Formats: sequence, structure tokens, C-alpha cells
Amino acid sequence: MSSELREFDLIIIGAGPAGIALAVEARTAGVPSERILILEKAAEHSWIIRKYYPASKPVLATYKGIEAKCEGVLCIPDLTREETLTYLDRAIRDSGAQVRYREEVFRLGGEADGRLRIESSGGVFRARVVVIAIGILGRPQKPSYPIPRELQHRVLFDVTSEQIRERDVLVVGGGDTATEYCQFLVQESNRVVLSYRGQELTRPNPINRDSVLALERQGRLVLRLSSNLAGLEAAGKRVRARFQEPQWPAIEVDRVVYALGGTTPENFLKSAGIEFDGPTPRLTESFGTSVPGLFLAGDLTAGKKGGSIILAFNTAAAAMRQICQDHGICSIGRPGAP
Ligand SMILES: Cc1cc2nc3c(=O)[nH]c(=O)nc-3n(C[C@H](O)[C@H](O)[C@H](O)COP(=O)(O)OP(=O)(O)OC[C@H]3O[C@@H](n4cnc5c(N)ncnc54)[C@H](O)[C@@H]3O)c2cc1C
Repeated sequence: MSSELREFDLIIIGAGPAGIALAVEARTAGVPSERILILEKAAEHSWIIRKYYPASKPVLATYKGIEAKCEGVLCIPDLTREETLTYLDRAIRDSGAQVRYREEVFRLGGEADGRLRIESSGGVFRARVVVIAIGILGRPQKPSYPIPRELQHRVLFDVTSEQIRERDVLVVGGGDTATEYCQFLVQESNRVVLSYRGQELTRPNPINRDSVLALERQGRLVLRLSSNLAGLEAAGKRVRARFQEPQWPAIEVDRVVYALGGTTPENFLKSAGIEFDGPTPRLTESFGTSVPGLFLAGDLTAGKKGGSIILAFNTAAAAMRQICQDHGICSIGRPGAP
């Protein structure tokens, strides 16, 4: 793209559930489609769903105990992964917003005239309002010990980047993602060990917890509770995983899959001028940041506990209500509106 600078009323960074909901809410509030731009670093929208959700995964409306109470235009019941993607596909298409794929935003800041300036891999843009909806899974949480370079292609953070069948697989983690990976990997005829540092599986929802416990009872999965990995080393073409606790002997596996959650892109947000309280960005009730005109939406607002798709939709609706109130870019609900 040329270095031409383009002006918009609203720029949304990230085309996941939150970014898509933002575009829909903005259109509903009367922001013209040509005044909205979405910048997405992946080649398609909803990249996290495509990358991290196993193929057969049911998408639950109530996730991580977050109530499925929709407050905006978008809403989903329990769906399959494909139905969820189809729903989001239709939403982004119907919004009419311009989406620029393969455009990673790497810099953001305020200008003297109060507009926000965005630099992406494709160019420079300006907007009156910017919403950052980039989630937390772009940077999965890594273990504290180093992963030897020669093992890197045997160590994964998802179960879709490679087809894993009839292998010995160690899954590390104890939440919904880890337990969903286990169910998927067992279904794909793998021999699975789940290592979790807690004494019990208290974090997953009851369906995931009960499914994993049932697999263990059936002898189709080995559960190592109260286990902490000490490190990984090469063992021929396999990986030897060593544990801190003497009761857990080392095991050799073909693949190790970490499901430890994501991390807030703190440096990116701080470099945009957003103030933090400890590890969390300081936000208003409507997800406005300390930078005028700059909002967050979706998983970025959810804190350590993590978010859900409906929470992403709701944060977008709340942010958009505030944007309409404060920034004069909406026509519906204002005097002179159509
Ligand atoms: C395995 C797994 C299973 C889950 N199951 C469920 C479930 O059943 N039900 C449920 O409600 N929730 C579920 N979740 C949680 C749900 O997926 C998230 O809460 C939701 O996707 C958050 O949406 P978001 O738009 O905030 O962020 P994301 O979905 O993370 O989307 C962020 C988007 O921003 C893009 N992006 C990132 N950085 C940049 C950048 N610098 N420039 C431009 N674009 C960028 C990314 O490519 C991505 O498309 C699950 C999560 C995982 C990992």
C-alpha cells in the first residue's frame, strides 16, 4: 500500500468477536460504513477461533461461568465452531465496514488535534475514535523454563496447526482449553497425559471437567494432578518431560501442548499512552482508557479470569454507547438523526 494517510471516524483493531460486534454496533448507531475501518493482522477474521478451537468443539454461550446475557445487537446460543464462524462471517459482511486483512497494527498514539494516529504494516491512518480489540491469545503464555530450540516443532500452543494422530501427547494446563484439547486429542486416537499443578480440576466448566474425569476412569487418559513440569529435553525424536515432584517420574512423548492462557499485550497498550493499575489497564465502566477517544473491548477488558464471546459482544455494545455519547460520530439517537 502507499503511505497515503486516511481518515476515519472509527478504527477497530482486531476482527475477532469484539471487533466485529463493534462494527455492527457502530452501524446500528448510524455510523456510515465508509467511515469505519477494521484492521486485522490475520488473513481472515476470528483468527483465534480458527486457530485454537478444536474442530469438534461445541462453542458454549455460557463460558468460564460468564452469564450468557446479551446486551447488544449480537448474541449466540450454544453453537458448533463452524456455526459460530458463519454467524461472525455474516455479521462482519452485513456491517459493510471495510476490513483490511494481513495488517498488523504496531503503533498508536494521539496527535495534537485530538485525533488518533495508527501505523499498521499497510500504512498510516487517523481516526476520531479507536477501539483496540486484539484479545490476549496472540501471545500465548509460555512456561517459565526454556524450551530447547531443537524441540520447538514438537512443542505446541494449539491443536490445529498440525494434525496430531496416534501419538503420545502431554497436555499442560487445567482450564477449559486444556480439557477441551484433551478430549479432542483422545478422539483423534492419541494417548494423552494431562498435567495440572492444582490438586483438583476446579477451573473447567462441569461438562469439560466431567468428560476428562470420565476419560480417566475409562483408562483413555492419564491425569497427573499436583504436578509441575520442571523442564523438557530431547530424547531422540521424542521429548522427555521432567517433573518437579518425585512421585511423578519423567515421561517421553511425541508432542507437548501448552494451554496456559494468553497475556495482555502490555507494551503495546502502554506505548499508546494507556495507563495501568499494576498489570491491568485502567478503564472506565464503558471500557474507555486514559487516552481520550481510545477504548478497549473483548478479552482485553476481562482481566486474569479470561473472557467469552458474549462478553466480547457486550463490551463492544457498552463502548459504542459511550462513543455515541461523547464523540459525535453516531447519527441515530441524536437530534437530526434519520
Ligand atoms: C480453546 C478456546 C476455547 C474457547 N471456547 C469458548 C466457548 O466455548 N465460548 C465462549 O464464549 N468463549 C470461548 N473462548 C473464549 C473466546 O474465544 C474469547 O473470549 C473471544 O474470542 C475474545 O474475543 P476478542 O475479539 O476479544 O479477541 P480475539 O478473539 O482474540 O480476537 C482478536 C483479533 O485481533 C487480531 N489481532 C491481534 N493483534 C493484532 C494487531 N496488532 N493488529 C491487528 N489485528 C490484531 C487477531 O488476529 C484476532 O483476530 C475460548 C477460547 C479458547 C482459546
